[in-house]
Amino acid sequence: MSNLSNLAPQTLLDWNAFERELGRISENRYTAAELAMIQRAFEYAEMIHREQKRFSGDPYLTHPIAVALASAAFRLDASAIAAALLHDTVEDGGTLRDIKKKFGDEIAFLVDGVTKVDKIHYQGVERAAESMRRMLFAVAQDVRVIIIKLADRLHNMQTLWAHPTPEKRLRIARETLDIYASIADRLGMGELKGELEDLAFAHVFPEEYRWMAQEIRKRIPTRKDHLNKVKPIIEKALADEGMPVRAISARAKHLYSTWKKLLRNDMNWDHVLDLVALRVVVPSVEECYAALGVIHALWPPMPGRIKDYIALPKPNGYQSLHTTVFCLDGNATEFQIRTEVMHHENEYGIAAHWLWNEAGKPAEGTHMVGKKFAWVRQLQTWQKEFSQTLESNDYLESLKIDFFKDRIFVLTPKGDVVDLPENATPVDFAYHVHSEIGNRAAGAKVNSKMVPLDHALSSGDMVEIITQKNRRPSSEWLAFVKTALARSQIRHTLRDAAPPETRPTETEFEIAVDDRVGILKDISGAFARFRINIETASVERRHSAYPVILVRFNHKNPGQLEKIKTQIKKIRGVRSIAERVKSAKS
Ligand code: MN
Repeated sequence: MSNLSNLAPQTLLDWNAFERELGRISENRYTAAELAMIQRAFEYAEMIHREQKRFSGDPYLTHPIAVALASAAFRLDASAIAAALLHDTVEDGGTLRDIKKKFGDEIAFLVDGVTKVDKIHYQGVERAAESMRRMLFAVAQDVRVIIIKLADRLHNMQTLWAHPTPEKRLRIARETLDIYASIADRLGMGELKGELEDLAFAHVFPEEYRWMAQEIRKRIPTRKDHLNKVKPIIEKALADEGMPVRAISARAKHLYSTWKKLLRNDMNWDHVLDLVALRVVVPSVEECYAALGVIHALWPPMPGRIKDYIALPKPNGYQSLHTTVFCLDGNATEFQIRTEVMHHENEYGIAAHWLWNEAGKPAEGTHMVGKKFAWVRQLQTWQKEFSQTLESNDYLESLKIDFFKDRIFVLTPKGDVVDLPENATPVDFAYHVHSEIGNRAAGAKVNSKMVPLDHALSSGDMVEIITQKNRRPSSEWLAFVKTALARSQIRHTLRDAAPPETRPTETEFEIAVDDRVGILKDISGAFARFRINIETASVERRHSAYPVILVRFNHKNPGQLEKIKTQIKKIRGVRSIAERVKSAKS
């Protein structure tokens, strides 16, 4: 990843310069035939974007160039590099048909994937983030599409300062933090995750970012001085034990992850012991443990800080031994010990396994894709065939993401994601957006074409509901909707529309009572407790032995009527009640 930071795409606008840089970054991995194809993609992108500029004022071509080079650094294959060069051409005047004709199905498929993913916008609702992440995978259909998209986002973040709209800058940075950095993390691409987070941090929390940058600048030099003193001591101790050390390097923690750690620890810097850690790379797993022993013999370890991520890798596949020791002058110092293979995998994650041999076929270790990553494994439970695909050893097939057999992810016209079961219809979609949109649905468009309301949606569809003001749901919809939410909303609305019990009914009670002072007050009090308005009340002395009180009132339902009757019967002096329904008010 370090070779990403010194990229200057402005200087690579001609093919020869680009090819040289691509060769350097990819360690000349691509064959002559592949390079010829990449060159055609380069020239096509150059033609399409010729007149365009970035917000930064740079020629637009600098963007696809940066994305292609980052994709090469992530070990993507030649088709993906071509797709990275072409990734914005469909938006800017090229057509997918044209790309298919010129570059074939596979590259067109990848370009189409990136174009679709670009249409998805995250609205910053944190509980929606997980479904957004899944959605990206479902729409992308191929891990390479996701990685091209991560490369795209990396360059867009590096140039985000040039974006003229503050709200958009913030939205893009938020999305990077909540969605893309998290995806990089889950794919085990640790360096990329840290870089995306720090780039977004500056936009999302500018004050905190400035403060952190200042604090780190203050603290790092003393830490580096300390490590420079420690390094020769550890090198000598390992050499004395006959331990071949491949590399020892100091590694500074990223700003955002340090800030998060501070937040978890009451802003107490004493808890950030790994601000700068020493990385020791040795040839084998046995030597990792041996090196740990050597370090512990030199300096006492801090209890509770020895972590064996070799025996128990992190869910994203990260492997290393960590220990913090009381070093020179009692300075707490973190060591991270790993093999070269682990080191490589910790940097590149899922992409580390895409090493091509001379024949252009995936090298050994490819079978690890999907097995190492807990998150990917979790996704696999949605689709068991995936593991069978892996065993069939068809490399390209294993990159296809089809975990979501029973879920689909569709988009609102604004790009919001709606997560639905398979075969869900526009009516399901409408109710998931808003109950009123469901109730008033009169028609639907999928990808701008009219479809019937019982049309089966698929992942990536952009769905638009046409509503009419006085529209009501139809009971026929119950026969085809697939979601419980839509079904219950339809039933509910149909029931509400039916006139009966809910309308107030006027009733008259004839209550025969003992002639007692205060009995009228007690009776009206009983009505008041039920919040029933008495329309009229009068006392009549008929030929019976007792006076009769006539009360007219409106009540809402028979249950309420029974309750009030019971209450009134309990009043001292009430002899009997007769009721008469006068009318149902409309
Ligand atoms: Mn782009």
